[in-house]
Amino acid sequence: MAGNNAIKEVLGKFKGKVLFDEPMSCHTSLCVGGRADALVMIEDEDQLTQIVGGLSEGKINYLPVGNLTNIIVRDGGYRGVILLMKGLTEIRYKQLPDGGHYIRAEAGAALSKLVGLTLTNELTGLEFCTGIPGSVGGALWMNAGAYGKEMKDVVSSLSLLTAEGRKINMKRQDISFSYRRAILPADAIILSGEFKLEKGVSGQIKEKIGEIMRLRQDKHPLEYPNAGSIFKNLPGMPAGRIIEELGLKGKCCGDAQVSLKHANFIVNKSRATAADILTLISLIQDMAKKEKGINLETEVVIIGEN
Ligand SMILES: Cc1cc2nc3c(=O)[nH]c(=O)nc-3n(C[C@H](O)[C@H](O)[C@H](O)COP(=O)(O)OP(=O)(O)OC[C@H]3O[C@@H](n4cnc5c(N)ncnc54)[C@H](O)[C@@H]3O)c2cc1C
Repeated sequence: MAGNNAIKEVLGKFKGKVLFDEPMSCHTSLCVGGRADALVMIEDEDQLTQIVGGLSEGKINYLPVGNLTNIIVRDGGYRGVILLMKGLTEIRYKQLPDGGHYIRAEAGAALSKLVGLTLTNELTGLEFCTGIPGSVGGALWMNAGAYGKEMKDVVSSLSLLTAEGRKINMKRQDISFSYRRAILPADAIILSGEFKLEKGVSGQIKEKIGEIMRLRQDKHPLEYPNAGSIFKNLPGMPAGRIIEELGLKGKCCGDAQVSLKHANFIVNKSRATAADILTLISLIQDMAKKEKGINLETEVVIIGEN
């Protein structure tokens, strides 16, 4: 695998802000994670294309990320380059002559901004994203969902940068989605997504957004760093309920705790490490298997080295 010098040499050829040996705990919503060899603030598609070309040629690992609200980086850090889609934030609304309403949003744009724009333009369909703290790219890659709807229900096309450095468009009907995953060409980076929405009524959209916000504030432990749901729900059986039935609500490992408010959340009460969180995850999985014969799969993405 390429070492730090090779990474510095490759990244030195391109413009843009690079943080070397960067603690990922400063960037993940859980506030845990060791150091990445480098973290690049992506400014635009051209810079991203050039950097990905350089990294591929140098056989250097890289990972595109959005807002890091669904990632656990192990304490040993990430060997390679994290590509933070910081600058790809444009969001545009267009109405086509056929009457269709579309919003195109770049990968780094915040979902909250996207929801805000739908409200301004009286469009309905994306209210379910209210309160999901991720980026458009992360939500599309994860097929994020809530309250019975997922990204797959509203996306009409994706623009991707392939591992070979080609920009391609994929229509919704050519993309498969599973629970919390879009099935895309290997190592493709999402550049932007287009969403087909319906004209709605401003008051009703506002009401729905407000209702979801209230539900989230009531049910989620937003007062502590967290990464949303840790485990995937089973059909008809929320993972949180399984964890509660196992008696693990409130269980601690170091400063990591199975939330007292919502058992499918693990919170960082102060100085938890990734190892603390991963220990709790393993404990929950082992008990679910042993006591209920259930395989609980993680929804969060776990990367890096021990
Ligand atoms: C309080 C809270 C509530 C949450 N509620 C929900 C919820 O209701 N529903 C839900 O589904 N999730 C929820 N989440 C989890 C998370 O916010 C979503 O999954 C979100 O969509 C992740 O976006 P992100 O930008 O943070 O992705 P990241 O965490 O940065 O990345 C997640 C994955 O996507 C990949 N990725 C990111 N950007 C790109 C890109 N441009 N191209 C290719 N791959 C990319 C990364 O490599 C990684 O594998 C919640 C999280 C928190 C903290």
